[in-house]
Parts: sequence; C-alpha cells; structure tokens
Amino acid sequence: MRIAVVGAGIVGVTTAWELAADGHEVTVFERHGSAAAETSFANAGIVAPGYVTPWAAPGMTAKVLGHLLAAHAPVRVSPRLSAAALPWLWRWWRACSARTYQANRTRMQRLALFSRDRLHAITRELGLEYERSEGVLVLLRRPRDLAAAQPGLALLGELGVAYELLDSAGCRRVEPGLNADTPLQAGIHLPRDEVANCRQFALLMRARAERLGARFRFHTPVHAIRPGRAPVLSHQHLPPEEPSIAGRADPARDDPDTVPMTGAPVEEVFDGVVLCAALGAPALLRPLGLRLPLLAVHGYSVTAPLRHLEQFPDLGPRSGLMDERYKVAITRLGNRVRVAGSAEIGGSLAAHNPGAIATLYKVLADWFPGAARLNQAQPWKGARPMLPDGPPVLGASGIAGVWLNLGHGSSGWALACGSARVLADAIAGHEPAIDIEGLDVARLRC
Ligand SMILES: Cc1cc2nc3c(=O)[nH]c(=O)nc-3n(C[C@H](O)[C@H](O)[C@H](O)COP(=O)(O)OP(=O)(O)OC[C@H]3O[C@@H](n4cnc5c(N)ncnc54)[C@H](O)[C@@H]3O)c2cc1C
Repeated sequence: MRIAVVGAGIVGVTTAWELAADGHEVTVFERHGSAAAETSFANAGIVAPGYVTPWAAPGMTAKVLGHLLAAHAPVRVSPRLSAAALPWLWRWWRACSARTYQANRTRMQRLALFSRDRLHAITRELGLEYERSEGVLVLLRRPRDLAAAQPGLALLGELGVAYELLDSAGCRRVEPGLNADTPLQAGIHLPRDEVANCRQFALLMRARAERLGARFRFHTPVHAIRPGRAPVLSHQHLPPEEPSIAGRADPARDDPDTVPMTGAPVEEVFDGVVLCAALGAPALLRPLGLRLPLLAVHGYSVTAPLRHLEQFPDLGPRSGLMDERYKVAITRLGNRVRVAGSAEIGGSLAAHNPGAIATLYKVLADWFPGAARLNQAQPWKGARPMLPDGPPVLGASGIAGVWLNLGHGSSGWALACGSARVLADAIAGHEPAIDIEGLDVARLRC
C-alpha cells in the first residue's frame, strides 16, 4: 500500500519503519526540518514499563490542588487556561475513579512491556547505539514517600517487573554519585528498565526507514485530509522561516539534506494516512468530524555536560533516577546529564516558567551537586500530547482511510515501538501481538 505518515516524532518514525519493513511504500510528512524536533527532542529518556501509568489516578485531584501553592510543585496550572482545557480537565477528573484508572493502567503497562521488547528487538536487529544505560532508581526521600510507594510495589510484583527495595546505603551502591547530605529514606531499583536518548533513536530510525525505501518530506506541513478509500492529503513545502508553520522552526537543527523551497499546495492520493502528528492532529481531524480531547501538558528539561574529574569518576548519575517527591527525572545520556520534569496545564510553549526550571536545578543540586557544567546547560520546554484518561489511541479512526497513533502523553518514548507495531499489524489485518482492548478511538467518543 502507499501510506502517508503525518509527523516525524518518535511515534511517526517508528511507525514509518514498521510499515516500510512490512513492504509498504511510505512517505512521511513533517512540518519541521528534521525528525524529533518537537516533544521527542529532549525528553527524560526513561523507558520503565512498570512506571507507565495514567496521570488520571485516584487521589490526583487532591494532589494537584495541594500543589497549587507549593514552591517546587510538580504540577502547575496556568491562570490562562484555554477553552479546550476545561472539558479536558472534566474528563480527566472522571477518569480518576479507581475502576477507570485500573483499566487504563493495565492497558498502558501491557503496551509498555510489549514496547520495551520491541525496542530491544529492533536495537538488536539493526545494531543501533543511542546513549543507552540500564537501570532506573526511584528515590523516596521521606518515610511518607516510601509508604505511598507500597501499592505501586505490589503492582510491580503482579506485572512481573523486576525490582528491589533498597535502603539509602543500597541506593548509593547503585548510584555512587548520590549526595550523602540529602536525606534518603529508600529507593526502588528497577534493574531491567533503562534510559536512552529518544531523539538519537528517532534519527537512526529515520535513516533505517529510508534504507527500506521510506521517503521523508521535511518542511512540509499537512493542511488537510480528504478521507475515502483513497484518501487525499493536502500539503505544502515551506521554507523554515514560514510563520504559518505551527510550533518553532529552528534552522540550526534542520536536516542538511533538505533544501527548503516554497512550493505550491499539493494534493496527493494514498491508500492510507496514519496520523502521528501528536498535538497537530486535532486540527486535521476536527473538519472530519472527530474531536480528540488532546491537551498540551508542558514539561521542561535541562541538559548539561558532566564534569570529568579523575579523582571523582562517579560524579554524575550512572543511569536513570526519579525523585518521587518532586516528580523529577535525572538521567545520564552519554557524557551529559539531563534533568526533566514539571507538568504545566495551560500556558504556552514559548513562555518558560522560571519556577519550574528552578525546581530542576534544585533537584539536580540535591542529588549530584557540582556534577554538571551548568554554564553550558540547555533548557528545553516540550508539550506532552495528553489524552485525559491515559492510554494513547491506536488503530482505525472510523474515518475512511485514516489511522491514528496518537496521544502518548508522558510516555511516548516508552510506548513508541510497541504502538508502531500494533498500528502496522492493524493496517496489515494481522492479529496484534498483545491485547489492544481499550486502545481504539471508541473509548474517547462519548
Ligand atoms: C519534559 C518531558 C519529559 C518526558 N520524559 C519522557 C520519558 O522519560 N519517557 C517517555 O516515554 N516519554 C517522555 N516524555 C513524553 C514523550 O516525549 C512524548 O510522549 C513523545 O515525544 C511524543 O511523541 P510523538 O511522536 O507523538 O510527538 P512529537 O514528538 O511531538 O511528534 C509529532 C510531530 O508531528 C509533527 N506535525 C504535527 N502536525 C503536523 C502537520 N499538520 N503536518 C506535518 N507535521 C506535523 C510535529 O512537527 C512533530 O514533529 C516526556 C515529555 C516531556 C515534555
């Protein structure tokens, strides 16, 4: 089949690769100049299936309200909420019931475990290297963090996720660079989970998809889709400066192989269109009668080179850590450290909140003081494409010729490889490798 993929984030490139590997003729349309230029650009990089859970969980409403006035709050609600945010928050609140949470968590973790297997299989098959390190340590600062973690531990056991509950000395054996002056009650070590550079993997997968014949059209936003047995895509090749391109265009990150030239709007016929456009998808689906409740939940990361001091070889993290109190991740990516977190509802991608960035620096300084060259730090803000109840939406859209692989929220890297395979199997008419109950668009229609 001739298949168009809209969006070259981690979800789009993995989907393009799976479809090309299945023998389809694939064309990827991306409005920026390279793959992984939006939310897949500088995320924390954690792949921890046991910790892939819906944000809509029992007790979350009280937690969010409790954080409203806290100085280092993991969740922030902007006073300037968009009109779309209120119905989203309503649906999110309804999905916080224990029953709905349980069902969505099971769906997400099933997909996440499959996705990790798929990521490993692809990595082995293609011999890819992308700043991977093994093990994730969840830091529980206070006795109450340890108490709050207990139900989660029982679930890890049920899922068969390998973990070890460690005291502070045990945590320091796993991560010798941890600052001994910061109180630490306990830690949960997940030895089979990992950290890896999502953007690097996406760039490698783009190249591998091209080797299989996939074509990437950068600087090419898709404006509209005319559905049908042979859906028609309307797109236009625009230079990077074009203000009509949503989001940010950063020529410094553009792919050197693409020579931007403004083209006339073009209509092209395919046998199928797969939307992997994350937050760009609702605008394409609305005219087709499908209103997807996708909201941008913003987060930040700061990436800095690690210092190399011969007398202190363990200055920075060895792999991934998650500070449960502040919901901040600290990860090692090659010779750099990345600290990421914050969930900001409302606001804009362009406006950086100094308080959220200060929390990242605080958590890094608490655990690894002096480890990074902060004068070379690169801050980044990204927008998680979040559905109110948690799982992404995968498969046929109900609109002729249009398929969906969207809404991976805060776990798109952990879910991408599995989602891509599920989608490719759906297009091929094959039985999916896992139970995909509840991942289709039907659950969002109400
Ligand atoms: C601070 C932070 C930390 C995170 N940490 C983790 C983590 O540790 N682990 C994890 O699993 N996940 C993490 N995430 C989430 C993860 O980054 C996202 O879920 C993932 O990147 C989403 O991938 P995507 O391909 O769906 O979206 P994107 O990467 O945003 O890609 C969508 C692409 O579609 C393109 N597009 C949109 N509309 C159009 C159009 N009309 N025409 C052409 N192109 C279009 C966009 O330009 C974009 O490139 C984090 C997110 C943030 C913000």
